Amino acid sequence: MSALRSSADIEALVENDANAAALGEARFGAARDRAVVVCITVGTGIGVGVVRDGILVHGAHGTHPEAGHVVVDPDGPLCYCGAHGCVEVLASATAVVTAATAAGVIGAGGTAKQVHDATGADPRAAAIVARAHNALAALARTLVAVHAGRSVDAGAAVF
Ligand SMILES: [Zn+2]
Repeated sequence: MSALRSSADIEALVENDANAAALGEARFGAARDRAVVVCITVGTGIGVGVVRDGILVHGAHGTHPEAGHVVVDPDGPLCYCGAHGCVEVLASATAVVTAATAAGVIGAGGTAKQVHDATGADPRAAAIVARAHNALAALARTLVAVHAGRSVDAGAAVF
C-alpha cells in the first residue's frame, strides 16, 4: 500500500467493497454532505457500509457491519451463519441463483441476470425476484431506522 501511495502520490487504503462504496457515495456521490450514509451492495453476498459525519463506521476490531445477516424472514432458508431468513440467503445473487436453480427456472451455471430477465414470462422467476426485493426493502427500512437516516443507497455488483 505504501508503494501505491508513494508512486501515485495519492491517498490509498484497502477496504471492504461495501465500506468503499459507502465512503465513495459519501465523499463524491449522491450522498455527499449527508450526515448519515448507509449503502447496501448486492452481489454474491449482501454488504452494508455506513458513514457517519464523514467517518466510516467499523465494528469491533475493525470489522465491517454484517447486516447481510439481519433476519427478515425467520421461516426462510437456512443461512451459513446458522440463522434462518437472513437477507443474504434471500436477496443475494447467490440466493437468487440457488432458488431459481432448485425451481427449474435456470439450469446449472445460470446467472441472477437470467432469473431477472425471466420475470416477465416465468412466475417462478418473478416470485424469487420479488422475495429478494422484499428482503432488501426490509433491510433498508431496518437500516434507516437504526441509523436515523432518511435514505439508503443501493448498488448492484453482480446483477
Ligand atoms: Zn446469515
